[in-house]
Amino acid sequence: MTQAMKDKLIAVLYPARCAFCGKVILPQSGICSDCETEAQAVAGETCSLCAMPKERCSCGRRSHFYDAAAAAYLYGGVVKDGILRYKKGGDRRAAAFFAAEAARRYREAFDFPADLVTYIPQRDAARELELPLFDGMVKLYDVPPQKSVPYLYKRGNVAGIFDVGDPEAIRGKTVLLFDDVKTSGETLDECAKMLKLRGARTVVALSVAVTENKRKKKQTAAEKRKNQKIHT
Ligand SMILES: [Zn+2]
Ligand SMILES: [Zn+2]
Repeated sequence: MTQAMKDKLIAVLYPARCAFCGKVILPQSGICSDCETEAQAVAGETCSLCAMPKERCSCGRRSHFYDAAAAAYLYGGVVKDGILRYKKGGDRRAAAFFAAEAARRYREAFDFPADLVTYIPQRDAARELELPLFDGMVKLYDVPPQKSVPYLYKRGNVAGIFDVGDPEAIRGKTVLLFDDVKTSGETLDECAKMLKLRGARTVVALSVAVTENKRKKKQTAAEKRKNQKIHT
């Protein structure tokens, strides 16, 4: 069988699919035209602490244990679908696509190289960035998922649950800490704290997607209730 025949057979048996919605697409195009229009890629001037575009940053430049953060997309819509495709559906091609997108964003946002990558989905990210994978971030015990915990308890929920298996591997290094979705950032921050405590020089939080910081909104709603009580 010739290579051309093999390629044809593979294309028929395993057609290329859009990484976001899963629709069959032309090989090498990566995403369909609908998702290309809908997915909101993070570009231009961004806040280096919360990874949001400057005009939508509401983090108040609150500092973290990580030194900087970046994300490839704004979370929601087809981006959410795409992340679920590889997280829950095990779509490896979608995983590779999003890891490549995160790697592209890292190179766009930062002019310093990282030494190694850790966290999920670390294998693909490590390959895309051609960096060694540090598989030594250890979760010491399970806690309720962060999305089920009210904002004020998020930090406490993950406090002390991670450690670094082999501190020698990260000492003095620039570590890229990878996650699928950055929401409040507490989990990334807790991991960054341990990486720093164990000797990492710089920690950059890189995620496929970032969600808007809801802290401001929630506080305002709580304040509103408080004010209402005062005034009634
Ligand atoms: Zn699509
Ligand atoms: Zn910000």
